[in-house]
Amino acid sequence: MGSHGLPGGRDAVLYHRAITHLDGPAARYDDGGPRQLMMTTYDYLGLLGHPLLAERAKEAIDRFGTGAHGTCAGASTLGLQRLLERRLAEWAGREDALVFPSGFQANQSAIPAIAGKSDWIFSDEFNHASIVQGCQIARARGAVLRVFRHNDAADLARALREAPAESVKLVVSDSVFSVDGDLLDLPAFARSCREHDAFLYLDEAHGLGVLGPRGRGLHDHFALPSGGADFLMATLSKTLASVGGFVAASAPLIDALRRSARGYVFSGAPPAPVCAAVLAALDVLDAEGAARRDLLRRNVAHLKRCLRSEGVEFPPGCEAAIVPVPVGDERRTLDIAEYCRGRGVMVVPMVWPICPRGQARLRLNVTAHHIEQDISTAVACVAAALRATAR
Ligand code: PMP
Repeated sequence: MGSHGLPGGRDAVLYHRAITHLDGPAARYDDGGPRQLMMTTYDYLGLLGHPLLAERAKEAIDRFGTGAHGTCAGASTLGLQRLLERRLAEWAGREDALVFPSGFQANQSAIPAIAGKSDWIFSDEFNHASIVQGCQIARARGAVLRVFRHNDAADLARALREAPAESVKLVVSDSVFSVDGDLLDLPAFARSCREHDAFLYLDEAHGLGVLGPRGRGLHDHFALPSGGADFLMATLSKTLASVGGFVAASAPLIDALRRSARGYVFSGAPPAPVCAAVLAALDVLDAEGAARRDLLRRNVAHLKRCLRSEGVEFPPGCEAAIVPVPVGDERRTLDIAEYCRGRGVMVVPMVWPICPRGQARLRLNVTAHHIEQDISTAVACVAAALRATAR
């Protein structure tokens, strides 16, 4: 395998353990080890296992079966998918939306469908792997790619000035960066895009349901009336407790993607239970989103309090539900994760190639399903592991 193998090389065995039992934010794995408190889950608002989602998914299976009947281009789009696309568009405040089999596939096929030969793409150096993949495909098809310094609107503006005025320009970024949980400076980026007549494509994988008073993502967090981005992408596999991805935008832009995004046209249509479960998740968010976000925010604040009181450092600016603990050394980071796992706390060791070499860290994800005691327990375990592995 080339240099883009699994993170951690032979230590990647940590990733191969499989969950056999799930109980809220706790899980059992197939290694016979202790029950794990998961500080790894993306189920930010605790909707996974919600009875309404299960009930609607089962009804949908009874009517349409478990899987895709074929591709969208092959006349297999279900009415439920259309309903979901309209609902996601409405939710995102856009005219239309397109659902893909995964968030990864959404990014890797929408980006090259938007920016083709001779168009210019501008991508943050810390964007998610699926965005990097989308940009590379676009470049292979003749687009010009510029990678700007992380979250640096001035560096982006410099790069934008390089592009010919008449060229199509697409700026692509995560809203919440998935390694460090920091937020894009959306007001500055939206301004720069307006000034240079560039499209802005925002990946809200970790912001959807989480950020802003209404949980609508980064523009809601910054109270931007315009919505901020031309293309709003997000995944169905985190807060929405299912699997899939979507892109929302104006009707003509989505219409163009519906015809040209290969991951949509040539892949199996989203199956009925997925569509029904996500529609139910959106209903739950309408009814209970604010209360669940409140719980989540209290849990994030509690996590930060616990880390501070244990003297564990974390970077400023992580305002979503991801809090990283910088460690540096890769071996030590893997040892810490293993120490915690042995004591029933699952944390993600972020090592190369997810992070640059020598900048490994642990990542703690918080959800509305955790209780304060879970968080205190996890932080005490991480702090003990840091002490036990200090040299
Ligand atoms: N974008 C970001 C920022 C992500 O973190 C992820 C998944 N970790 C994806 C896209 C891909 O989403 P999916 O899991 O639906 O493929």
